Amino acid sequence: MRYTQYFLPTLKETPGDAEVISHQLMARAGMIRKVAAGIYDYLPLGLRVIRKVENIVREEMNRAGAIELLMPAVVPGNLWEESGRWQEYGKELLRLKDRKETNFCIGPTHEEVVTEIIRGTVNSYRQLPVNLYQIQTKFRDELRPRFGLMRGREFIMKDAYSFDVDDAGADISYEKMYQAYRRIFERCGLKFRAVEADSGTIGGTSSHEFMVLAETGEDAIVSCDSCEYAANVEKAELNAPVGDAPAPSQPLGKVATPHLKSIEDVARFLKEKPSTMIKTLVFQNEHDEVVAVLLRGDRKLNEVKLCNFLGCNHLQLADEAQVRKTTGAPTGFSGPIGLSCRVLADQDVAVMSDFGLGANEENFHLTGANYGRDFQVEAFVDLREAVAGDDCPRCTGKLEIWRGIEVGHVFKLGTKYSETMNATVLDDQGKERILVMGCYGIGIGRTAAAAIEQNHDGNGIIWPMPLAPFQVIVTMLNPNDESVFTAGEKLYQDLLDEGVEVLLDDRDERPGRKFKDADLLGIPLRINVGARSLKEQSFEFQERRSGERIMLPIDGAAATIAEQVRTALAAG
Ligand SMILES: [Zn+2]
Repeated sequence: MRYTQYFLPTLKETPGDAEVISHQLMARAGMIRKVAAGIYDYLPLGLRVIRKVENIVREEMNRAGAIELLMPAVVPGNLWEESGRWQEYGKELLRLKDRKETNFCIGPTHEEVVTEIIRGTVNSYRQLPVNLYQIQTKFRDELRPRFGLMRGREFIMKDAYSFDVDDAGADISYEKMYQAYRRIFERCGLKFRAVEADSGTIGGTSSHEFMVLAETGEDAIVSCDSCEYAANVEKAELNAPVGDAPAPSQPLGKVATPHLKSIEDVARFLKEKPSTMIKTLVFQNEHDEVVAVLLRGDRKLNEVKLCNFLGCNHLQLADEAQVRKTTGAPTGFSGPIGLSCRVLADQDVAVMSDFGLGANEENFHLTGANYGRDFQVEAFVDLREAVAGDDCPRCTGKLEIWRGIEVGHVFKLGTKYSETMNATVLDDQGKERILVMGCYGIGIGRTAAAAIEQNHDGNGIIWPMPLAPFQVIVTMLNPNDESVFTAGEKLYQDLLDEGVEVLLDDRDERPGRKFKDADLLGIPLRINVGARSLKEQSFEFQERRSGERIMLPIDGAAATIAEQVRTALAAG
């Protein structure tokens, strides 16, 4: 592609509403253009990236035995009424009426449509398993669409639906998709983790979220440095510490700690570390049940774990009045000794001794406290949030903490839709069975955006080779110089002959401007064709990621570059 003949409207200024880096860079690099809130044009350069993601997804889905079809974007409302979602789904569902006043919606997902296909065509277990997928434009009327393609209202998604005669079959279908997803994101050249996840509102028993790692990610996740274990921070299980608490060696003492409320302030005053102290948090749940929770001073409570243990839906730190009522002192001086409410302790507390804690008396703390001798607890429970360096719950590895962007999910869906929509087959005994479903999504545009969140610097995008809109950019430093024009044109043709995707920057612009644009677009390999290097029979060759420049002999340059492209694609 010649730049002068291409349609590539780059922007100098970042659009005012672009909050995240991928949105900013996609807009500036001329990949997308906003049409309305959460609705974008995919401009030619952006579409090239979208197609790359789609192709990788399509190849791996096909390889895993899934079959592509295309379902309608506009879905009759009666199908959604049948599943019950017409009423359940909120305003995110874009509902509309046709000229006959019949209800329709723009599908945000297609469980109903695909289930209708299967129940109308499949009636024997011999026709199963089947896994149907599509790559389709979808719509979800988000209240606050933002972040460009990361959370648009209209979006391109790959969604797949598997149908099996029983649970065991559904497990196999799920595992195939899980492995296909791993290959997809590996082939995209992205760093990612497959995180064990809650199934959320869609309903189901087993699910994983595929997260692209990026500092700007909205979810905190943990993963093991040596096995495949990964989980949302809220869900990360932690091992109980090994061993017993050392025997008490100090008597219980009382110290005045006027106006010292935070664990850090009290520890500093006592010349201790927060990790040798206990903090006591008082919570109340929706049943007005009050519970005190003991944590090592430097640990953070994981409220989801506490909620799960208590079997409640909602939990909040007790207000000042409740703390005073429970402990007899204001917030900041709570401790377990003498409390009459339920007292739980994080499992780390079980191996501590001679620690400081609140005295349940304003402006006082206790020192030399010991579990057993001075107070009891109802139970030691895994209640804290995981931190980097914690032991993996599955192996001997250590946990690492990341931020991630969800780009794909696999759900074992069960019979939620097949049951309400009556999708059954006859099994090998001639008995009617409700189909067991799985559903599997990948946000195509979101994957492209997440790739940018993971791969960029101050100058622009740094595409992984498999997703790059062009693999190589050939920059003619001065196309008006005949030797430069001729050499650049020849290199361009040679690279095309090698099957390389090339953008030839043949614009009559200053070299500085061209370099800036090349950095912004993020094309992985750049060749500068200039009069000076041509005199030495060479091109200047630069990698976008490392910024490293080397001189490349003109002879065999195209073959060398093509080889490098192939190597990078294979590595992705
Ligand atoms: Zn592990």
